[in-house]
Amino acid sequence: MRLRSSMFFTTLTVAAVMVATAAFAQQGQDFSKVQVKATKLSGNFYTLEGQGGLIGVLGGPDGVFMVDTQFAPLTEKIVAAVKEISPGPIRFVVNTHVHGDHTGGNENFGTLGVTILAREQLRARLAGGPKPSPAAALPVVTYNAPVTINMNGEAIQLIPIQSAHTDGDTMVYFPNADVIMTGDVYRSVGYPFPDPNNGWTFNGLIDGLNKIISTAKATTKIVPGHGPIVDKNAVAAHRDMALAVRNKVAGLIKQGQTVEQVLAAKPTAEFDGKVDPGGSSHERFLRALYGNLSSAK
Ligand SMILES: [Zn+2]
Repeated sequence: MRLRSSMFFTTLTVAAVMVATAAFAQQGQDFSKVQVKATKLSGNFYTLEGQGGLIGVLGGPDGVFMVDTQFAPLTEKIVAAVKEISPGPIRFVVNTHVHGDHTGGNENFGTLGVTILAREQLRARLAGGPKPSPAAALPVVTYNAPVTINMNGEAIQLIPIQSAHTDGDTMVYFPNADVIMTGDVYRSVGYPFPDPNNGWTFNGLIDGLNKIISTAKATTKIVPGHGPIVDKNAVAAHRDMALAVRNKVAGLIKQGQTVEQVLAAKPTAEFDGKVDPGGSSHERFLRALYGNLSSAK
């Protein structure tokens, strides 16, 4: 057992260094300084912050269940942080969506023997495209309907969300821990983050936010893809803001305004101070919203 795991670590170190170099060259980002910080949310459920989307960790006697893998160069630090939470093997990881800051570590975890789960659409996007992911990075178990994983006293629910951030989103509900992980369907910082090239639609976003709100109890800790943990009231306010902005943009489109005119009209102005003070995330949201509403006419 000891030998086995130390061999795994040697392999992983080499892989992580190679990928780290590639990622650094690609993104100009130095992951060597990133620290992975664990926060306990309840009994045996923790979040891990490093660089990229928040990771969820459910530990216990049946082994570890994880949500998302951040970037490949961080795998070793993530595995070390998980070991401190729960010494058992990491058995499963589910990807909330395809983006590299949530799936970048997949190949390393797959190589370690962790079973990766995700939506069929997510697997197809990782496997296809101009730069297909290596086989070890691909989800082994795929689904397009709700799935329950029973371990560590939890009935973990993988709930598909259609077209809310991408076309392969999953929200993960831990009823016992009273936690929902939303992936990037919901971020508690900035405006909604649309990815129309990967299947985002505005109606999908609203359906996704409504699913989070209807699943959560008043006490449920909602862990967004990025940003601080909130409760369902914050998600409801976010949905209402998105609908108000949609109505304004739809009105401007009706008047025949171009996307540049819509941006100049500042339809998010009343929310900017609260949602994204001094930031520019409104622009991406408005451009995607304009495109989606224009094409849906
Ligand atoms: Zn994302």
